[in-house]
Amino acid sequence: MAKKQFKAESRRLLDLMINSIYTHQEIFLREIISNASDAMDKLAYTALTDDKVGINREDLVITITRGKGKLTVSDMGIGMNKAEMEENLGTIAKSGSLGFKQAMEKTEDIDIIGQFGVGFYAAFMVASQVTVISKKYGEDTAWKWESDGADGYTITECERELPGTDVIMTLKADTDEDRFSRFTEEYEIRQLVKKYSDYIRYPIRMEVSKSRKKADSPEDKPEYESYQELETLNSMVPLWQRAKKDVTQEEYESFYREKFFDFHKPLRVIHSSAEGTVSYKSLLYIPGKAPYDFNTKDYKRGLQLYSAGVMIMECCEDLIPEHFRFVRGVVDSQDLSLNISREMLQHNRQLTVIARNIEKKVKSELTAMLENDREKYEEFYTAFSRQLKYGAVADYGAHKEATQDLLLFWSAKEGKLITLSEYVAAMAEGQEKIYYVPGENKDRLAKLPQVKLLLDKGYDVLLFTDEVDEFVPQSLMTYREKSFCNASTEDLGLQSEEEKKAMEDKAKELEGFLTFVKQTLGESVTEVKLSGALGNAPASLASATGMSFEMEKYMRRMNPEFDMPVQRILELNPEHDAVKAMQSAMVSDTQKAKDYATLLYCQAMLIAELPLEDPTAYTELVCKLMK
Ligand code: ADP
Repeated sequence: MAKKQFKAESRRLLDLMINSIYTHQEIFLREIISNASDAMDKLAYTALTDDKVGINREDLVITITRGKGKLTVSDMGIGMNKAEMEENLGTIAKSGSLGFKQAMEKTEDIDIIGQFGVGFYAAFMVASQVTVISKKYGEDTAWKWESDGADGYTITECERELPGTDVIMTLKADTDEDRFSRFTEEYEIRQLVKKYSDYIRYPIRMEVSKSRKKADSPEDKPEYESYQELETLNSMVPLWQRAKKDVTQEEYESFYREKFFDFHKPLRVIHSSAEGTVSYKSLLYIPGKAPYDFNTKDYKRGLQLYSAGVMIMECCEDLIPEHFRFVRGVVDSQDLSLNISREMLQHNRQLTVIARNIEKKVKSELTAMLENDREKYEEFYTAFSRQLKYGAVADYGAHKEATQDLLLFWSAKEGKLITLSEYVAAMAEGQEKIYYVPGENKDRLAKLPQVKLLLDKGYDVLLFTDEVDEFVPQSLMTYREKSFCNASTEDLGLQSEEEKKAMEDKAKELEGFLTFVKQTLGESVTEVKLSGALGNAPASLASATGMSFEMEKYMRRMNPEFDMPVQRILELNPEHDAVKAMQSAMVSDTQKAKDYATLLYCQAMLIAELPLEDPTAYTELVCKLMK
């Protein structure tokens, strides 16, 4: 029997499949099962429109049979006649394969295989020979299509009792790199069906080995025998396709455990369904704990993407924004075709709409949790606050709308975490700014003179103890039209015009003194000035530039070579006894006045939690002055 050649356009794809070094060869099974399911859909559809076709959708099943070196997938679908075999299996004109071929013309990247419904030819990744036996519904003759890929195919008449199709794959021989024989193993097939085809809407059955107690074996010494039983491998109806009211919390949780291998209960389950321009169903989870690899490159953000029950992408990044990367879940949209590639997805309008809706949904769920279940929200926040803050900071604040209201900071006044909105709502009469102080330790920050001063006035201060916190005000700029003020380094803006004027006069009066202190401290500070906002502290350091001391520390941690310390301004409290003592010493004992200046500078450094350049010299100085 003469072999027919594949159409030229099919050849290249076929060669690719035959010689495939693609690591996810396993997807062949998904493709063959999808075809079987499609064929049964077609038959079921025919039955709907033609009442002569006495088919019950419920009776249709897909059967997987394992043989020695062989794997067969059989369906009860519409089948193919000779012409259709020729047309469908001999050419590449079919949708899935065509998209793949077009993409292959642009790139040689074999890794894109998995993103396509490469279709029937995928069988040649694992099989050295493929036989398709099919009988078209309503026809009497069955046909056998056979091919080893390379030399074309033959079609001959054969026997098949019922309509439907068998795809018989003779697996390639095992090599050092590839163990093709694994595709005849029960465990492997079970896994593959679960992974890729769990939600095919027909039962996928296979004979599996089971063990039972022998009927005649004694109770005290039971003997077991193994037997084979047909088992349905797939769960068919995805949880997300079911109505919310029919799914129990336990089912949601066990699905989450099995799917995402997370044994902590999720904090929130978001199950929704959308109809309209784009229809889709989604089942999203907000985890209770960050996975161990969350902050590493290994963690991939993304949701699983399905098209009518068939998984098309394991981790679709475009569905979830970076600031919500902790969200796990699945999205299923029948509007997306199996054959879509990653590049195509990126520009896919439906996907963009879905992603936008998902972002909104996650935000509103988190907001609801924040408002109604603060304890749970704080648990969530402990795990993922960084992500939200990075979100507020990233891309120059482009995502602040989605994130800023979800942030919590420690309130010095309330002694608990509060939102920016709560801060603003509780602002005292006359308070213009949102005050914060960055530093490592809440308790120490709360004792800073500036903080005390503000608290005494009835103004709250946010204690920024996470190193990313300080970047938040920089990218938000304002929140509800209130600007932010770093209370440890910026002017608190509390002085009235008269007070400012009085301070300027005082500074003029003490010009000689301030110059003396500056000269004593040399390059350590860029300026020495008076401040009326130090409360009962004698001295404090302020930053002369936009960068704060905390940022300097952060930069140093990131890069130990960092050599651009923030320019420091030493602020002195003219009302403080220590400063007055320094002034008197300047007249009576210049050396003592110099020592005082150094001492106050070192103290200000300590309060700002900056390292002293020479701690030994500092202690010696203190001892000297104690004598
Ligand atoms: P696609 O499924 O994307 O169209 P395939 O290469 O997988 O591309 O399949 C080509 C065609 O072969 C299908 O469109 C279908 O018409 C036919 N076909 C494949 N498998 C079966 C099957 N099990 N039963 C009936 N027809 C099939």
